[in-house]
Amino acid sequence: MDLTDTPADREFRAEVRTWLEDHLVGDFAGLKGLGGSGKDLEAHDERLAWNRHLARHGWTCVGWPVEHGGRGLSLGQQVIFHEEYARADAPVRVNHLGEELLGPTLIALGTPQQQQRFLPRIRAVEELWCQGYSEPDAGSDLANVQTRARLEGGEWVIDGQKVWTSLAQFSDWIFVLARTEPGSERHHGLSFLLVPVRQEGIEVRGIEQLTGGAEFNEVFFTGARTDVDLVVGEPGRGWQVAMALLGFERGVSTLGQQVGFRRELDALVEVARTNGTYDDPIVRDRLARADVELEVIGLNALRTLSDPAGAEHGPRQASVAKLLWGTWHRTLGELAMLVRGADGLVAGPDGDLDEWQRLFLFSRADTIYGGSDEIQRNIIATRILGLPR
Ligand SMILES: Cc1cc2nc3c(=O)[nH]c(=O)nc-3n(C[C@H](O)[C@H](O)[C@H](O)COP(=O)(O)OP(=O)(O)OC[C@H]3O[C@@H](n4cnc5c(N)ncnc54)[C@H](O)[C@@H]3O)c2cc1C
Repeated sequence: MDLTDTPADREFRAEVRTWLEDHLVGDFAGLKGLGGSGKDLEAHDERLAWNRHLARHGWTCVGWPVEHGGRGLSLGQQVIFHEEYARADAPVRVNHLGEELLGPTLIALGTPQQQQRFLPRIRAVEELWCQGYSEPDAGSDLANVQTRARLEGGEWVIDGQKVWTSLAQFSDWIFVLARTEPGSERHHGLSFLLVPVRQEGIEVRGIEQLTGGAEFNEVFFTGARTDVDLVVGEPGRGWQVAMALLGFERGVSTLGQQVGFRRELDALVEVARTNGTYDDPIVRDRLARADVELEVIGLNALRTLSDPAGAEHGPRQASVAKLLWGTWHRTLGELAMLVRGADGLVAGPDGDLDEWQRLFLFSRADTIYGGSDEIQRNIIATRILGLPR
């Protein structure tokens, strides 16, 4: 794969760069660098306003097909967009789940009515989404979902509980994997429902994390309701839809994240240079290793995504990518503590954490969410290497 910019790519890169320079000014300038892993609560409303500003100028959902309101950018151009976005230190966007996960799933599997109802509002950042998959007894073992839904008076009525639901407190809608065929087991009899969050039958309770914030939540459904038409795919066949969405979660949507990782590593190298730890050959060796590994992870992601047989190999390769980046980022958090030395052990006067302490604590989650390392290894062992279960 040729990674050099073509003349058209260079022109596009200049367009993105210029637009960001012209618009990340005034009130928006103060948002630079805000948001991201462990910092999702940071300036949420202000980042929402910035995200809507991007939308008004056509810079959301850039990889969606034009007929669905996107820019139809090629993979290469999406990479350029994310690179320039990170280079400008623009704030992390608030609409990841709608833009990168649900939107592509609706484009692939939703009805025309669902697409017309939801895609424009995701693109305009008018409605935010969260993901209702995990339950207290259904995390790695997602097929054990027990939240149930039944049809009553033209509506789905939902009872049960989800957990670890990121950003539910800011969300207007939740996509829910629920059991709709009583007595069904495992991945049979599940449906993928689109449910409004702000209703009487839904309660969202924050869960405090190691970092002190509460970015994820428990979500309780007690007779919650949604319209009969708001099931994606056939009722009872929601597992296929849920898996398709996971393919998007572990796929193109990670491109922006790679660039964010690069920015963190560069900043950590700068800390090491400033506080003198860069002179320690062990620190230097680990920084160099992190640099090389990140390059390999990025190239591997591009290779996978540009694979013409991607649809067939993509989901399995995505497990390799998830394993690589999850472990890499958690190791970066540990490396940050090594670079910070004794200073890294002390919180601020109000118990505030600096960005490196927060990275260290939050990155423990990277090898858990989106499928834990052990689960990815199981997938690689059985589905790629063909080993017995
Ligand atoms: C920061 C964060 C955000 C999240 N956001 C969301 C969200 O928005 N929506 C959502 O639905 N979920 C979300 N999750 C949940 C996440 O998907 C689950 O935590 C994850 O799938 C693991 O499930 P679990 O926590 O129930 O752990 P368990 O499944 O109970 O696993 C516990 C341990 O056992 C290991 N294990 C389990 N089964 C096996 C096996 N078969 N073989 C080997 N080892 C195994 C696991 O690897 C893990 O180490 C989030 C999680 C985190 C940490």
